[in-house]
Amino acid sequence: MSIFDKFDLTGRRALVTGAASGLGLAYTEAVAEGGAKVTMTDIDAEGLAREADRLRALGYDVRTDLLDISDRAATERAFAAHAEAYGGLEICFANAGVGLGPGFWSPEGKRAPDGQVDTFDPEMWDRSTEINFTGAYNTMRSAATLMKAGGKGGSIVATASNAGLIIEPIVALSYHAAKAGVLHMVRTLALELAEYRIRVNAIAPGPFVTNIGGGWAKKDPAVRKAFDATVPLGSMAETDQMKPLALYLASDASDFMTGAHLLIDGGVALGMPR
Ligand code: NAD
Repeated sequence: MSIFDKFDLTGRRALVTGAASGLGLAYTEAVAEGGAKVTMTDIDAEGLAREADRLRALGYDVRTDLLDISDRAATERAFAAHAEAYGGLEICFANAGVGLGPGFWSPEGKRAPDGQVDTFDPEMWDRSTEINFTGAYNTMRSAATLMKAGGKGGSIVATASNAGLIIEPIVALSYHAAKAGVLHMVRTLALELAEYRIRVNAIAPGPFVTNIGGGWAKKDPAVRKAFDATVPLGSMAETDQMKPLALYLASDASDFMTGAHLLIDGGVALGMPR
């Protein structure tokens, strides 16, 4: 047996949330290329259709489902539909998330008027928490249900953030709290589900160029520059740089790993020398 056989996902079934864009799309591409069938879910119907058509044209077996992960009943229905279509689930990326609202510090290096604990819009706190924290719970809950029923174990991978480990002053308080919560939810679930051979791990990305926050990394040179300046390896990452890690965690290559978080941040958490 070759070491590369451990990365082979032939015959595996995967579901990805937030699959129409950014990291979720990269996870989808990674596991589809590895041989898995993938249900791509998202709230963006147009993006889902476009990306799924493109992937099918490349020969991959993907299906789509419109899903808002903050809706628990809809999440259950999407997993049930996945099981109906593909017959089971071995891989789940609990990935969908949003960057809502400002941090306490602006990209220009001043206090952000709307980003203080007493000025931040509480409704934005609620929506951020519903998606980034409760949405991750809704997803992992449904994934565990299907994987337990399948009886063959599985791999759940949650997208947390380096902001769950360190403080990014230009990122919102609610996002920090939600992602730290996801990291600890992953550890707790990993222990609970180990008996069923369901592994649960987290990816903690640093800054990747995606459409998060309306796509500022592509559109706003000032914010892009501020983020690049925090990266010891020099600049934000492209989503393709996430694919090897996604394949590793989804596959048997990581079969003794559970409850871990893998930081992939170009060294951001180390801080800059000056
Ligand atoms: P993105 O905006 O490119 O992709 C997110 C996708 O999730 C979009 O297609 C969007 O339509 C979808 N989505 C949004 N709300 C949803 C909901 N309620 N239900 C279902 N789908 C929904 O952003 P991304 O950067 O690829 O974000 C993916 C994950 O990575 C998020 O959890 C984010 O917090 C995390 N993350 C991103 C970065 C980064 O620098 N890009 C860093 C750390 C963590």
